[in-house]
Amino acid sequence: IRSINRAKKLEKLNILISDTFDLAEKQAFESEKRWNKNLAIGRLDGRTFTVKDNISTESIRTTCGSKMLENYTPSFNATVVDRLLKSGSLLVGKTNLDEFGMGSVSSSYFGTVKNPYNVLIDDFDEDANDFYISGGSSGGSAASVSSGIVDFSIGSDTGGSVRNPASICGCIGFKPTYGMISRFGLIPLNNYLDTIGIMSRKIDVLVDVFNTIAGPDPNDATSLKCEFKPIKLADSFNTNEIKIGIPKEFFPNGLSEESLKAWKHSVGIFEKFGNAKIVSVSIPNIIYSMSVYSVLTSCEVASNFARYDGIRYGYHSELNLDTNPSGYNFETVVRKNRDESLGQVVRSRIVSGNYFLLKDNYEKYFLKSHKIKQLIVNDFLKVFNDDQCDLLVTPSCFNETFKYSHFLKQSQVFDEKDFFTSCANVAGLPAITLPCILSQNSLPIGIQLISKWKRDDLILNIANWFI
Ligand code: GLN
Repeated sequence: IRSINRAKKLEKLNILISDTFDLAEKQAFESEKRWNKNLAIGRLDGRTFTVKDNISTESIRTTCGSKMLENYTPSFNATVVDRLLKSGSLLVGKTNLDEFGMGSVSSSYFGTVKNPYNVLIDDFDEDANDFYISGGSSGGSAASVSSGIVDFSIGSDTGGSVRNPASICGCIGFKPTYGMISRFGLIPLNNYLDTIGIMSRKIDVLVDVFNTIAGPDPNDATSLKCEFKPIKLADSFNTNEIKIGIPKEFFPNGLSEESLKAWKHSVGIFEKFGNAKIVSVSIPNIIYSMSVYSVLTSCEVASNFARYDGIRYGYHSELNLDTNPSGYNFETVVRKNRDESLGQVVRSRIVSGNYFLLKDNYEKYFLKSHKIKQLIVNDFLKVFNDDQCDLLVTPSCFNETFKYSHFLKQSQVFDEKDFFTSCANVAGLPAITLPCILSQNSLPIGIQLISKWKRDDLILNIANWFI
């Protein structure tokens, strides 16, 4: 199938950690038979997709981009994977990511994902080690969609990991309301912020995928219990009545001229072509959202990662009784397993999380962050529930993609790249990034829409109108 040929051709982009070409070919054959007999399961029957490698797939290795899980093969499917396979979609592979979803570049034990736009650059050298990055942490997913390998991809978004790479790879990235899509089988980063997200180049495909995977799941206690009504895209959506909020606080230092241009351009389209009303709004506590994100995520990581001890599963270190004749105690074994297999960012977050959770620090950092989280939620409630606006339009990233060498020069435990996106996770709101303009270097720049809690239908309809 075309998808497999393209994946093979673009192998050097480091998009897939594991391919499932044999499975996809078998599934494609079955799907074709169904279509020929007029028995197709639905619109997704025969569509190709990839899944980020922190989402469990039965009998297919799921590494989280880590040496720790290099040989880990789950015995069950995540709910999303299950629902997609039942819809007749064809799984082509598992995509590369930052280790356990921590980062914004998609650089892992399995290499770094290269942005598909590299291929469009005349003198691009496939083997060069300086290249444009794809963003992250779902960078492999975004690259697999933008390069046309697959019709859609499933990623995870804790602070912007679907929207950030989608934006700089030039495709659509959607993070629904927290709890709309089951997290069962998603290997957690921060359970309170993690959301499954969808990427595609076409909004109608993205909506078909959302309609297939959303809705309650008895296996996930945090999935919303209310019945899910499939979303229908309106043939002609009326933007006259829509009020668009421009948050005052979204002009931080470092916002590039070109991202600002994309932002103005999109607001202009809503105003001039859609007759939407544009209002200025304020979300004052948003300036704390990255700090809240960093503290809470480190704390969750500190507790979630206790399971990776390499005893029952995961990486086992070679124990050498010749050099250590008195043997090893439990603690030394676990430390060796973790030291040798978890990367620097992961280990730093475990350490800082444990620090924030110390008895003396708990109130000062952990509880305080939870309180500020609530203030951010309240800010959004005020803007949306007082009917100041229906939708926020914001930049999605500070700038276009950048070179890998530039990333290597930065401090890497947490960065500010998720400034525009993490607030939607902190408040549990639906948000989407859409391709908007090309920069002077012919690289994609996106914009972001954020809307009211559970108004995923609204945001997708508006996105459809905009695109
Ligand atoms: N860049 C953020 C982090 O490093 C976002 C990750 C995510 O959304 N998974 O944690």
